[in-house]
Amino acid sequence: MSTVYLGVGSNQGDRLVFLRAAVECLEEEDGVTVVATSSVYRSEPVGLTDQPEFLNAVVVVDSTLSPRGLLELARRIEDSNGRRRRQRWGPRTLDVDILLIDGVEVDEPDLTVPHPGLTERRFVLEPMLEVDPDVSLPDGTPLREVLDGIGGGQAVWMEGGL
Ligand code: ATP
Ligand code: CA
Ligand code: CA
Repeated sequence: MSTVYLGVGSNQGDRLVFLRAAVECLEEEDGVTVVATSSVYRSEPVGLTDQPEFLNAVVVVDSTLSPRGLLELARRIEDSNGRRRRQRWGPRTLDVDILLIDGVEVDEPDLTVPHPGLTERRFVLEPMLEVDPDVSLPDGTPLREVLDGIGGGQAVWMEGGL
């Protein structure tokens, strides 16, 4: 059993409905238990900046799935929530990223854990620290230190868990 931090994001359609649908899909999945959900944060797009603002949140699950099983689940949840465009960083109804799996590192062509954007993105660091102030990288670096290093603050769009 491992603790997994998933990032969910949406900038197309009814964004909050898609984020909640992601949580529902996770709750229904065998081998996955949702243990925490963060507030919803608003954030400007990264990569391709000329597109609508995102809503982002973090969902913490306990899971018996392998990292690859988690990636397949993430893709399946995206597909079943109307994600069509495969353009990286493009607009999407739902993006589900594997941010962190406690103590686990994966470095494969189509799967990198911890997520490569994690240490640069306030919109994932803040919700992760909201649900777990003591969360740290597999090398032991507390994410609190990482966030303090990049500074700034992220707007909360909706208080309380998803
Ligand atoms: P970013 O990864 O920078 O947040 P994105 O979410 O827009 O960008 P996608 O188009 O959703 O990128 O995903 C591209 C590919 O990234 C996926 O098909 C998947 O194979 C790969 N990938 C690698 N590591 C991860 C991870 N930790 N979580 C989710 N996808 C990952
Ligand atoms: Ca992403
Ligand atoms: Ca993604």
